[in-house]
Amino acid sequence: MILSCNLDYGEKSLYEFVVIGSGITGLSTSIKLRSYNYNVLLVGVKESASIYSAGIMTLQLESLRDILLVKESIKILKEIIEDAELEEAGIVSRGFISIEDSREAVESAELLRKADVKFKQFDVREASEIWSQLNFNEGEVITFTEDDVLVEPNSFINFLIRHAEERGVEIRVDKVERIEFDRGCRLVLGSSEKISSDIVILCMGAWTKDFLSKIDIMIPTTILRCPAFRFKVEDSIPPFADEVYESYWRPGINKTVVGGGYHAEIVNDSRMFFGEPLKRFRSGAEKLLRLRIKGRVEFVEGWSGPCSVTPDLEPIIDSLPRYENIYFIDGLRGYGLMRGLALGYLLADIASGKKSIDSVEDYRLSRFFKLF
Ligand SMILES: Cc1cc2nc3c(=O)[nH]c(=O)nc-3n(C[C@H](O)[C@H](O)[C@H](O)COP(=O)(O)OP(=O)(O)OC[C@H]3O[C@@H](n4cnc5c(N)ncnc54)[C@H](O)[C@@H]3O)c2cc1C
Repeated sequence: MILSCNLDYGEKSLYEFVVIGSGITGLSTSIKLRSYNYNVLLVGVKESASIYSAGIMTLQLESLRDILLVKESIKILKEIIEDAELEEAGIVSRGFISIEDSREAVESAELLRKADVKFKQFDVREASEIWSQLNFNEGEVITFTEDDVLVEPNSFINFLIRHAEERGVEIRVDKVERIEFDRGCRLVLGSSEKISSDIVILCMGAWTKDFLSKIDIMIPTTILRCPAFRFKVEDSIPPFADEVYESYWRPGINKTVVGGGYHAEIVNDSRMFFGEPLKRFRSGAEKLLRLRIKGRVEFVEGWSGPCSVTPDLEPIIDSLPRYENIYFIDGLRGYGLMRGLALGYLLADIASGKKSIDSVEDYRLSRFFKLF
């Protein structure tokens, strides 16, 4: 049996779209839907992976598809920011460098060329003159791209919330307990209020798996708890990824740097999504930072949050099996802040029928059906 949100009982839903989750995907989906003049409610609990992320939006990624998504996200961000001050949007820096061995650097150059992203590569002697605050090793190649965006996530997400509100998205800070299917579909909120909507979009990140399992829909995501750290440093640094020793960093407020190594641990309980990172992750990150930064490094704070990862590392965008007019997105792993604006816009186009769901065949849940 197919359960539908569409009322067809002569009764009108309160909203054309309700989006659940006010992280990067929920915000971008709502903003795009509102740009088509739909009546949109965004319901979400404040705590999100987006707010706890490290704030890196870089074009220097390993897949062409991801680079193109980040390129699109940066284009969308420019449109959203319009005349606002960069600081107001939480943007702390632009541009990014990647430190690689020479073989990796050739592959990166090829990808950036294919994606039509402007870049420049430097040898160690040239890079040491430009970025004298960093240590480089003989034979490494340093790739610079200029359009990347680095943000303080809390300010950035709050900027997007204000933008969504100004554009007419109604925002409610509340938890959706469940969806009831009785004369259309109704969202039951934590406050016990019930809200009806023609179309529901779940942008619930790492919480999606549990929410869907309650209606017997299984999705093959693994939730990793990823840490990030802030250290005080003497000199301001350029945002960089160290692909040789495996860490990533960006400048933060008050002469700090934010980032970490590629550490993570699996968590099965949403009560464990946030909190203090493991001590060995902190000491590992500090060691990795000291390998590259000259001068004093002092620990300020550490935190962690959930990253939802699929078996093939690609996101899922789909309508819910057995349900009509309910869509969802998940599986953005550690690259969700940077791809979320483009993916949210795509989801809005699909849910509103402006694009066919077949146009995202590679992102659909059915690609995993043989796993069950
Ligand atoms: C430490 C760390 C560092 C990271 N660094 C980066 C980085 O530098 N760059 C990058 O691109 N990505 C980074 N990521 C990954 C990125 O944060 C995520 O991929 C991205 O934020 C996922 O966005 P989302 O909208 O899918 O989920 P979220 O941002 O988690 O949003 C989901 C929202 O849904 C809400 N919600 C869930 N259930 C309900 C419910 N029942 N009712 C109401 N609301 C609900 C949640 O509270 C949350 O607000 C990092 C992640 C972590 C943890």
